[in-house]
Amino acid sequence: MPHAAPSARRHLVLVLGDQLDPASSALDGFDPARDALWMAEVAEVSTHVWSSKPRIALFLAAMRHFRDAQRALGRTVLYTALDDPDNVGTLAGELARAIATHRPGSLIMTEAGDWRVQQALIASAHGAGLPLEVRTDRHFLSTRAEFDAHADGRKQLRLEYFYRELRRTHRILLDADGRPKGGEWNYDAENRGAFAKSGPPPHAAPVAFPPDALTRDVLALVQARFASHPGDLAAFDWPVTPVEATRALDDFVVHRLPRFGEYQDAMWHDEPWLFHSRLAAAMNLKLLDPRAVIAATEAAYRDGRVPLTAAEGFIRQVLGWREYVRGIYWRFMPGYLERNALDAQEALPRFYWDGDTEMACLRDAVGQTLRLGYAHHIQRLMVTGLYAMLLGVHPARVHEWYLAVYVDAVEWVELPNTLGMSQYGDGGVMASKPYAATGKYIQRMSDHCTRCRFDPAKSVGEDACPFTTLYWDFLMRQESTLRGNQRMALQVRNIERIDADERAAIRARAAAIRAGGGAPPRALTLL
Ligand SMILES: Cc1cc2nc3c(=O)[nH]c(=O)nc-3n(C[C@H](O)[C@H](O)[C@H](O)COP(=O)(O)OP(=O)(O)OC[C@H]3O[C@@H](n4cnc5c(N)ncnc54)[C@H](O)[C@@H]3O)c2cc1C
Ligand code: SF4
Repeated sequence: MPHAAPSARRHLVLVLGDQLDPASSALDGFDPARDALWMAEVAEVSTHVWSSKPRIALFLAAMRHFRDAQRALGRTVLYTALDDPDNVGTLAGELARAIATHRPGSLIMTEAGDWRVQQALIASAHGAGLPLEVRTDRHFLSTRAEFDAHADGRKQLRLEYFYRELRRTHRILLDADGRPKGGEWNYDAENRGAFAKSGPPPHAAPVAFPPDALTRDVLALVQARFASHPGDLAAFDWPVTPVEATRALDDFVVHRLPRFGEYQDAMWHDEPWLFHSRLAAAMNLKLLDPRAVIAATEAAYRDGRVPLTAAEGFIRQVLGWREYVRGIYWRFMPGYLERNALDAQEALPRFYWDGDTEMACLRDAVGQTLRLGYAHHIQRLMVTGLYAMLLGVHPARVHEWYLAVYVDAVEWVELPNTLGMSQYGDGGVMASKPYAATGKYIQRMSDHCTRCRFDPAKSVGEDACPFTTLYWDFLMRQESTLRGNQRMALQVRNIERIDADERAAIRARAAAIRAGGGAPPRALTLL
C-alpha cells in the first residue's frame, strides 16, 4: 500500500506490532484531520532472533487487521508492508523515512514492550530533532512506577506480595470486608493435579479461527519470505482481531476454565491445549484487555460456574505473574539480559529447532511448539527449560529460542520467565531456587515416560533418563553455589548419598550427553 500524499502532520502516532489496542493511550486526543498513525512491517523484527513462521504470521496478520480497522474509522495509517520495495527493513530506518516524507511536528507512542526497540525509537526521534512523547501503557493494571514503589527497599521480591497488593487495589476476589474469597489468597497447592492413567477427562477443543483472506495473504508472504525459519503454518488459527480474541475468552471460560486450576501443571502426549486458555498471544498483542479476562473469570466464579481454585489459579496468572514479570523486566533492564548467575556456557541442542530427539517429553513439547507456536507453562518450565538449565546452556541462547518460537513471545514477558524463572540466570530475582528436578517429575505429571526408551528412575546406564543424569550432574557442578540456598538444602544434601563410583559414572554420562551436542547417545540398533 503506497503512503498517503505527503503533507505535514501534527502528530505521528507510532503503533508497534504488540500495541494493537484501539483504546491505547497513544491514540488519546487523536485528530483524524491533523494526525496519522504509523506502522511498519520490518524484517529486523523477525530476524533479530530466528523467529518462527507462526510468530511472524500472527504479528503481521493482527497488524494488518488493526490497520484496516483504523482506516475504517477514517484515520490515516501510514503503513509499510514487508514486501514494499522501498522498505529499508528496520524500525528506525522506516521511521526516519516516514518523518522525512510526512514532516510531523511530534511523535507519540505507548511504552514499548522491548527495551531495545524503545531505545531505537528514542534515538530515531532524537536524530530527527523531534519530540517523542512516550505514554504509560494502560493495558496493564499496574504501572512500572507502582512496581518500583513495591520493590524499593525489599531485599527479596516475591510474586505473592505483589499479587495480594493488586488483589486489594483492584478489589478482585475479595469479600465485602476486604478478605480474600474462601479465606486464602492462594490455592496453588490445589493446582498441581496429574491425570489418571486413562488420560485427561473429556474436553472440547478450543474455538478455532480459520484464516480469512487478509491472513491467508500474510501466511503466503511469510511462507515465501521466511521459508528457512522454524515452524509450520498449516495449523495457524490464532485470533487476530479484538472480536476474535473476545470469542476465544468466552470459549475458554465455558469449556476449560472450570478445570484449569486442577490440571494447570499436567501434561499429556499430543494434547497441546488441555485446560489452558491460549489467550497470552491475544493479550500480549493487546487485542484483549486483561481486565476483561479477570472480570469474566470472577463472574464465572460468582455465578457458580467455576470453583474458586480455578478462578483464583487463573487470576493469579493474569493479574499476578503477568504484571509481576513486566515489573521485573523494566526494573532490571538492560543489565538483566546479560545475567548468567550459574555461569552456563553450553550451546542450545540442535533438536530444539527440529524436535528430532529420542526423549519423548522433549519431542512432544518441541514438536508442538514448532507446529503451533505454543506450549503451556509446565512444558516451557519443566521440559524445555529444565533440560536447558540442567545441561548448562547459556541463558542468552535459551532466551533467543523462547523469544523466537512462541506466538505470545514479547521480551518483557519472555525474558524474566526464561532467563529468570526457568534458567535461574538472574541468581534468584524471579525464583527463590532453581527449578531443578529429575525425570520423575515429568513421569508424575504426564504419560511421556511410558512412551520413552529412557527410564526416569535411572541416572546411569544406556537407558538412563538424560534429565535424571543431568540433574545429579547439575547438583554436583553447582554444589558450592547452591549450598548457600536454604531452599536447596535437602536436594544438595542428597548428593552425599551417592558413592564415588556412581558420581564418576554420572559425570561420564553427562559429559557424553554434552559431547553429543546435548543429545544422549542414540540406542544401538541391531541390523
Ligand atoms: C521459559 C518460559 C517462557 C515463557 N515465555 C512467555 C512468553 O513469551 N509470553 C507469555 O505470555 N508467557 C510466557 N511464559 C508464561 C506462560 O508459560 C505462558 O503465558 C502460557 O503458557 C501461555 O499459554 P496460555 O495463554 O494458554 O496460558 P494459561 O496457562 O491459560 O495462563 C493464563 C494466562 O496467564 C498469564 N501467565 C501465566 N503464567 C505466566 C507467567 N509465568 N508470566 C506471565 N504471564 C503468565 C498469561 O497471560 C496466560 O495467557 C513463559 C513461561 C516460561 C516458563
Ligand atoms: S524418561 Fe526422561 S526423557 Fe523420557 S519422557 Fe521421561 S523424562 Fe523425558
